[in-house]
Amino acid sequence: MSQYRAVKGARDIFPDEITSWKHIEGVIHRVAGLYGFREIRTPVFEYTDLFQRGIGATTDIVGKEMFTFRPEPNGRSITLRPEMTAGVMRAFLQKNLSASSPVHKLYYIAELFRKERPQAGRQRQFSQFGAEWLGASSPEAVAEAIGMMMQVFAALGVKGLRLRINTLGDPEDRVRYREALREYLEPYAPDLDELSRERLDKNPLRILDSKNPEIQAVIAGAPKLHDFLGPSALEAFEQVLHYLDEGAILYTIDPLLVRGLDYYCHTAFEVVSPELGAQDAIGGGGRYDGLARELGSKSDIPAVGFAVGMERLLITMEKQGLLQHLEPESPEVYIVLQDHELAGNAVSVCDSLRKSGIRSEMDLCRRSMKAQMREANKMRAAYVLFVGHNEVMSQAYGLKDLRTSEQETLSLQEIIARLAPGNGGNQ
Ligand code: AMP
Repeated sequence: MSQYRAVKGARDIFPDEITSWKHIEGVIHRVAGLYGFREIRTPVFEYTDLFQRGIGATTDIVGKEMFTFRPEPNGRSITLRPEMTAGVMRAFLQKNLSASSPVHKLYYIAELFRKERPQAGRQRQFSQFGAEWLGASSPEAVAEAIGMMMQVFAALGVKGLRLRINTLGDPEDRVRYREALREYLEPYAPDLDELSRERLDKNPLRILDSKNPEIQAVIAGAPKLHDFLGPSALEAFEQVLHYLDEGAILYTIDPLLVRGLDYYCHTAFEVVSPELGAQDAIGGGGRYDGLARELGSKSDIPAVGFAVGMERLLITMEKQGLLQHLEPESPEVYIVLQDHELAGNAVSVCDSLRKSGIRSEMDLCRRSMKAQMREANKMRAAYVLFVGHNEVMSQAYGLKDLRTSEQETLSLQEIIARLAPGNGGNQ
């Protein structure tokens, strides 16, 4: 063992777990394809002002959670991305994608970095998959966003998730509401905890998110955002709910759901998992029509998107027993050598099999035949191919099916013909 450890809040993903990741990623890619999405990959760092502008200076993320540094002493500050939406929108605007088509649907699976206090379900490096509808935020697009997110969960077999949904209205509605809320909360300022007092000045809507029971009691009597919404906001929200009903997607309207980021407007949603503890949000999203202009776009780019935490999805699936059945890839053929003088022959047999698309392994530690057999079984190889002095002389090899224990003697060409992909092999 070495004295070096992974940085707190960051973790290694070993091959056993990679099987689960690949399974989930495979489903995400498939469902994204069903919805006509194309994948985007953006750099892990961006100029810091993109996030300050695009997420909002009053948010927790920008206020205290960004990993920010200056590569050159007097150069521009850069930040490891704490979320993907700002970077995707930056890339979209930079490439002027809206010129080629009014709507672009882009998805990602990406690593993010936030300087939060590490705890169960909360890391400093974590991953999200997410999707952005750039150029459309109609109720149909919003319903598609929620539908796609829920379809990924359904395709993975995840059960018991709860969808909460709310509307934040037009930005003007929100400004009026923010003032009313501040006015209501001000007299309670001495009773508020430190975090809420800080939010009272900067972003009082975030107080609605508080998990502190005393603050929740204060909030219970606060003015309601819905009473400040104009008719068009209400109508758009009703439409979204109608589509969800039509699609048999269950939801709870939660007037206190505000989401952390500044750029959300109209519909916001969040999915919570009963399998997670205090950090029970597994994903969420909403409309962010104002972001493009915030980033300097001359025209409005309506948009909606969602993001789901991959690690929390994995924890949920593990607890629901959805990952046990996944088998790591095992070799099709394990070559067992009579003695290591024949290593050269084994190398060439192994090479021919691999070039024919057959997953093959051989002993690399010059172990006894018995130890090689044990290894073949441990690796759950489908077949063992014996390379002994007689086999090399006659160019006919024993091929043993480890499932049935039947053994045949075949030439290399015959083995390839039988096992190669497309010829009935197990690929
Ligand atoms: P957000 O971008 O904050 O809305 O987060 C979307 C989802 O990402 C959350 O619902 C979580 O599943 C996941 N997530 C956010 N922050 C973390 C973190 N620090 N560690 C692990 N997962 C996270």
